[in-house]
Amino acid sequence: MRSEAAKKPLGIFGGTFDPVHFGHLRLAEEAVDRLGLQSVRWIPAGQPALRGAPRVGPRQRLDMVRLAIAGNPRFELDAAEVDAPGPSYTVPTLERLRQSEADRPLLLLLGNDAFTHLTGWYRWERLFELAHIAVAHRPGCPIDRERLPTELATAFRQRWRENTGELAGIPAGCIVTFTTTPLDISATQIRALLQKGASPRYLTPENVIAHIHEHHYYTEN
Ligand code: ATP
Repeated sequence: MRSEAAKKPLGIFGGTFDPVHFGHLRLAEEAVDRLGLQSVRWIPAGQPALRGAPRVGPRQRLDMVRLAIAGNPRFELDAAEVDAPGPSYTVPTLERLRQSEADRPLLLLLGNDAFTHLTGWYRWERLFELAHIAVAHRPGCPIDRERLPTELATAFRQRWRENTGELAGIPAGCIVTFTTTPLDISATQIRALLQKGASPRYLTPENVIAHIHEHHYYTEN
């Protein structure tokens, strides 16, 4: 018989993390409690498919995430997208995880700004065959169901579950929403502060800031 821990959902948290900040960290930490996750696997994108090149390279962004999550037993780091050549797509990442995790529920964690753009993702409908999607309410970005693209609004209507507890017994296919402590922090804001020589303190962990300063990230053109 499988243990309870073996059935607990695994959270998957992808992003550019250029740099990682407390908005990301709180989202992941609160997701563990709200959604009953076993842990959250952080997967920094190597070459994000849907945006311009990040300011800092994949290895450097991975290092910053490693520093930010150090010592948190609920978090683990996955370097696969950083190590892979070519653009990073979530579907192949989830296919790989599905192989190793068998029928464990996988929950892809997204801020609602990212969710709103889901139909632009590579093979987005396949995502639901591989994982659930858990949408966190990011400050200033409510989910406006009326303004979602039609196919996404339909998917939302059909797949949304109010009771997040239901997901524990199902490997994939549902959408849940959860609120997180509003932290109006973005990587864009941190890059802008550093670029003009202002302090990013209290927006991201101290060890990340020290690393940024040591390697002169975000200050050079
Ligand atoms: P940028 O400002 O460079 O666009 P970002 O701060 O939005 O970056 P990403 O790495 O693009 O960070 O985000 C990864 C994921 O984290 C996305 O799903 C995004 O919605 C979510 N996220 C980012 N910042 C916050 C925040 N402050 N609160 C809640 N979710 C967030």
